[in-house]
Amino acid sequence: MKKLVCAGEILVEIMAERIGQSFLAPGPLVGPFPSGAPAIFIDQAARLGQPAGLIAAVGDDDFGHLNIERLRADGADISAIKVHRGAATGTAFVTYETDGSRHFVYNIKQSAAGLIEIGAEARALLAGADHFHVMGTSLFSPEVIEVARIGIETVKARGGTVSFDPNIRKEMLDLPGLRDALHFVLSKTDVFLPSGPELFILAGATDEESAVREMLDRGISAVVIKKGVQGAVHYDKTGRTASPGFVVDEIDPTGAGDCFAAAFVSFWLRGEVPEKALRIANGCGALAVTRKGPMEGIASLAAVEAFLATARTGAP
Ligand code: ADP
Repeated sequence: MKKLVCAGEILVEIMAERIGQSFLAPGPLVGPFPSGAPAIFIDQAARLGQPAGLIAAVGDDDFGHLNIERLRADGADISAIKVHRGAATGTAFVTYETDGSRHFVYNIKQSAAGLIEIGAEARALLAGADHFHVMGTSLFSPEVIEVARIGIETVKARGGTVSFDPNIRKEMLDLPGLRDALHFVLSKTDVFLPSGPELFILAGATDEESAVREMLDRGISAVVIKKGVQGAVHYDKTGRTASPGFVVDEIDPTGAGDCFAAAFVSFWLRGEVPEKALRIANGCGALAVTRKGPMEGIASLAAVEAFLATARTGAP
């Protein structure tokens, strides 16, 4: 089976216990939960039985070891996760507003995540990789952009493929080197997995069909647009395939897009038709939101198949 690799931040998430609770006063917290978009992606791929490894850096502390142990237990290749003495693992503290939005207090750039590099272990992992996945959240400094560039170049030189989940907001476009990095990543991307708003940040056009056409004309093979509770839409040169989302009780939306992307890419690498890859991906995305904590709802292949056997779809 094809092996996929991702590089980027590992962190823990600690959240306010109650909706509407603010960090401007002391209050009860829950966590730490293992997190970081690349870690969520790799963990979900591994739980689906896809060979998957992560290039990352953590501190030699409980938060770092919590993540490493979760990834190891779920079957991911952790050989290229470097443990740094004297650096702390990154954190994200989250509050949930009454309108459904989330508010984050991050410490990622100054954490061990900023020390990521391509050492001997990362080189060895890339030497056996068939696919490299890029997360927009992992392009936060020129050093981590360089890691992504090496990952992309190495895997492409082996005849492998690249997927890209932009995961960006408009304000991020002014980060040093990010615009050029996005241009470079898009020029190497085979599978592009934006959410609706992200597609329009990166494309010139303002309607979906034209924005997708722009991406396909750049040489991207498949554009998969994530649409939250409504599911997802897949476009390639042959046309459009829509697939509805599944009805679940949403407890915590963090990580749904990463689980969706991991499942879609895993089944795309297995040569499955878009309908099947989208259905499994929508199933993984739906299950991801049913538990508090970004990696707590990650499902095994058996669990997602059991869910899909009885799941009810919402409106496409
Ligand atoms: P992102 O997390 O990147 O913003 P989305 O919110 O679109 O992406 O979620 C990714 C996928 O997860 C969706 O395409 C869908 O399959 C699933 N999903 C997300 N939220 C829900 C929900 N409330 N109910 C069911 N499925 C969901």
